[in-house]
Amino acid sequence: MRLSRYFLPILKENPKEAEIVSHRLMLRAGMIRQETAGIYAWLPLGLRVLNKVTGIIREEQNRAGAVELLMPTIQPADLWRESGRYDAYGKEMLRITDRHEREMLFGPTNEEMITEIFRGYVRSYKDLPLNLYHIQWKFRDEIRPRFGTMRSREFLMKDAYSFDLDKEGARHAYNAMFTAYLRTFARMGLKAVPMKADTGPIGGDLSHEFIILADTGESAVFCHSDYLSFDTPAADTDFGDRAGLQQLVDRWTSLYAATEEMHDEAGFAAVPEDRRLAARGIEVGHIFYFGTKYSEPMNAVVAGPDGQLRPVHMGSYGIGPSRLVAALIEANHDEAGIIWPDAVAPFNVAILDLKAGDSATAAACEDLYRQLSARGLDVLLDDRDERAGGKFATADLIGAPWQILVGPKGLANGQVELKRRATGERELVSPADAVARIC
Ligand code: ATP
Ligand code: MG
Ligand code: MG
Ligand code: MG
Repeated sequence: MRLSRYFLPILKENPKEAEIVSHRLMLRAGMIRQETAGIYAWLPLGLRVLNKVTGIIREEQNRAGAVELLMPTIQPADLWRESGRYDAYGKEMLRITDRHEREMLFGPTNEEMITEIFRGYVRSYKDLPLNLYHIQWKFRDEIRPRFGTMRSREFLMKDAYSFDLDKEGARHAYNAMFTAYLRTFARMGLKAVPMKADTGPIGGDLSHEFIILADTGESAVFCHSDYLSFDTPAADTDFGDRAGLQQLVDRWTSLYAATEEMHDEAGFAAVPEDRRLAARGIEVGHIFYFGTKYSEPMNAVVAGPDGQLRPVHMGSYGIGPSRLVAALIEANHDEAGIIWPDAVAPFNVAILDLKAGDSATAAACEDLYRQLSARGLDVLLDDRDERAGGKFATADLIGAPWQILVGPKGLANGQVELKRRATGERELVSPADAVARIC
């Protein structure tokens, strides 16, 4: 992408409405624009990051055996009357009436709809286990939308739903998603700790929130600090190995970790004092086994091996990609701007032509641009007619992990400057070496 042809509306001033650094930087870097309270347009730079985030989520969902589909955003109210949630859900639900006076709603989540789809087709235990997911916009009329896309009213969610014949099967499905979540967040360079979460009236211990520690987090959380150095499950994890997955989850739940609602002072006191972490956290994912809560009232039943019909055991598994983009910035920034981890960077490399109008720097930049693009990298070439200082500031603000600075003096010696955004380290190298170092 040539910056002269791109749409990157950078703000010079600090937006007054932004209370936290991620919101400020997303506005300043031209990633999002608020259209009305809690509702955002994703501008090109923001959309690139959102797509990288959903790409990783999708790969890890698929790896764990979940199958992607796409459900609509608008749902009929009657579906929610079947489960009893239409009245129970309250004011967070955006209710709509169509021209025929039919009651509809903008989906805040999809348990009812996926149960309706399932019951329309699946009759036998032989078709189980099944895990279906989608990545779709949700609407919740949050009482206090704030912090940009961290808590917005319209937001993106990956929500998966598992179907099993019995609780043991459902536990395996839960463990598979638990494992996939650990991999997903680790691949984004984030340390997310699974913490015991409230299961409400269903009870049991099968609900975890995945929490990223951050001072600006909205939840108070308590955990053993050793979790922060635990290994991530390997890419070749066998998701069919029930005992193996159980072991993995047992280890990741062996130490104390709980959100405020589930916090137990006595349990926390048993953690060695130097390992007690009482902090703020951001909920980026939430997994939940809820048994037959929806399958029973909605009559989603399958025949078991004995021919008997029984309601399926279900779980749901959410991740908030649009919240994650903000959380990633909370975890990766400095005074000058965003520092994207390589895996989610909107551009892997920014090439800065430090002397606009100079044919030698322009040619060298074009050459680098072609070579890096050909290797599959996302490259931004700052070819604007602007002074070098402005280009440095823009590159630092939008946070590409690598920068290549191309100026006439260095070029005369066959050199460009390669800069790593995270450390600020700069090195004089030949253009060929710069390409080799990045790839
Ligand atoms: P919160 O406690 O922050 O209100 P929640 O518990 O209501 O979140 P879930 O129903 O568990 O959210 O939804 C799954 C995921 O969707 C959350 O873990 C979060 O990452 C994301 N999410 C929920 N609400 C929002 C929102 N208003 N804006 C952005 N992301 C959200
Ligand atoms: Mg909520
Ligand atoms: Mg919550
Ligand atoms: Mg939740």
